[in-house]
Amino acid sequence: MRYNLIRKMDISNGPGVRVSIFMQGCHFHCKNCFNPETWDFKGGKEFTDDTINKILDLCNKDEIKGLSILGGEPMNPVNIEGTTKLAKAFKEKYPNKNIWMWSGYNFEKELKDKEALKYVDVLVDGTYNDELHSPILKWKGSSNQRVIDLKKSLKEDKTIILE
Ligand code: SF4
Repeated sequence: MRYNLIRKMDISNGPGVRVSIFMQGCHFHCKNCFNPETWDFKGGKEFTDDTINKILDLCNKDEIKGLSILGGEPMNPVNIEGTTKLAKAFKEKYPNKNIWMWSGYNFEKELKDKEALKYVDVLVDGTYNDELHSPILKWKGSSNQRVIDLKKSLKEDKTIILE
């Protein structure tokens, strides 16, 4: 698998100062996607154990509140193994920091049983719908997307929406 970009200090994707990684490859091709350079599965750079170690090192500062995993599509079958490995390694090392993840898949129908979600705190799900875009939305681009409290949702077996 491949990734597009790592941001060492990101204040736009989730609460507080965060490290973020944009995975490479997305099959959804939403109209007016904010990040079309991430669509090509052959683009970007190779994602390896060194990538995971680099991210863990970048997160080893008090001011970094968590890790954001975006795309591209982190839960595409091509990317899911690396995403899971990264999320697991992060939570093992930083149990008190949070993971936010953005995925075009639907939580209940397509993601609920995936191992990666065990390590994620907040999931923003659903593809971007340009007709439902609003600049005032927080953490998401269109109103069909949902900001889900994943920890609570998995524990209580019902979908709990934050935004
Ligand atoms: S799911 Fe996200 S990355 Fe993929 S095309 Fe839609 S907006 Fe772009």
